[in-house]
Amino acid sequence: MLTQRIKRLSPYVPGEQPQDRTYIKLNTNENPYPPTPAIEPFLKSFEIERLRLYPDPLFGSLREAISKRFNIEPSQVFVGNGSDEVLAFAFYAFFDSVRGKLLFPEFSYSFYPVYCDFYGIEYRKIPLNEDFAIEINNYLGEESSCGIVFPNPNAPTGIVLSLAKVTELLERYLEDRVVVIDEAYIDFGGESAISLIDRFKNLLVIRTFSKSMSLAALRLGFAMGNEDLISALFSVKDSFNSYPADLIAQKIGEIAINDTDYYRSITQKIILSRESLSKQLKGLGWDVLPSGANFIFTEKKGLSGETVYKTLKEAGILVRYFDMEGIRNFVRITIGTDEEIEALVKSIRTLF
Ligand code: PMP
Repeated sequence: MLTQRIKRLSPYVPGEQPQDRTYIKLNTNENPYPPTPAIEPFLKSFEIERLRLYPDPLFGSLREAISKRFNIEPSQVFVGNGSDEVLAFAFYAFFDSVRGKLLFPEFSYSFYPVYCDFYGIEYRKIPLNEDFAIEINNYLGEESSCGIVFPNPNAPTGIVLSLAKVTELLERYLEDRVVVIDEAYIDFGGESAISLIDRFKNLLVIRTFSKSMSLAALRLGFAMGNEDLISALFSVKDSFNSYPADLIAQKIGEIAINDTDYYRSITQKIILSRESLSKQLKGLGWDVLPSGANFIFTEKKGLSGETVYKTLKEAGILVRYFDMEGIRNFVRITIGTDEEIEALVKSIRTLF
């Protein structure tokens, strides 16, 4: 009954969203603070009658708002149903094995190999350096590749690649292959590559409303790049689904992108909590990688990630570990509120 295609799939497994009890949830990099309060008056006065009509398939006013915010043209912006969907469209539009393998970091967002299997794109995982940082020279070898994708800051390490290194990578890499930079966590540290999209026609920067804008439930993501890349993404979208972002999502996205003051303040709080948590864990003998994201990646010698995960889960705290050679002893901990972090440190102090 099933196709050969479906047998080839190995779907992505998202972090747990348990419904059985209340946990301190530090496992899926959600924002612990609410989205902008400017959303409430909009939702309260929303005319339900408007749900009758399809939403704008060109995301006109949302693209306008995004382009103003980042000082680019609306024609350089694409919108999708979460950045996962934007990534999926980008993989379809830009990567194929005819021109070589797709390159991405050995430890990185685990959805990338899933898209590759979905589309039949061959890939090569490129080693990080011994400090778990991305080493651009490793992407610039002789072998032909069909493109590069990586998160900046990287996930699950949290480590930032400097804008100078990103620029050097683009200068030295093939200009007829697309480089996708997944900036899901860039607002928490690191410098965006958006300033480079006019200079490098092969650069696509992907962002999400799920993390720094605290709207994971809304499912909204966007891409920024040269007009030709953006129109390719529209071709993919219009071959799947004309309306991936609904009317309410588009409107809320517009409200959120304009409230920079509110978001700067909650982002700053998260950064301070991250630094405080890193310091406290180091004081307790844990190794913590330097993070520019809303999570940290940490290990304590002699403890497996699985043990830490299970023990904390029993104590009512959810974190995430990855059962992969090389990072098996680490756990990834999302930065929560001050109270949540305090409870976490207390548990870690007594349990390990
Ligand atoms: N990129 C990275 C690196 C992520 O960690 C995530 C969150 N799982 C995403 C993209 C997808 O985010 P969303 O689909 O919620 O926009």
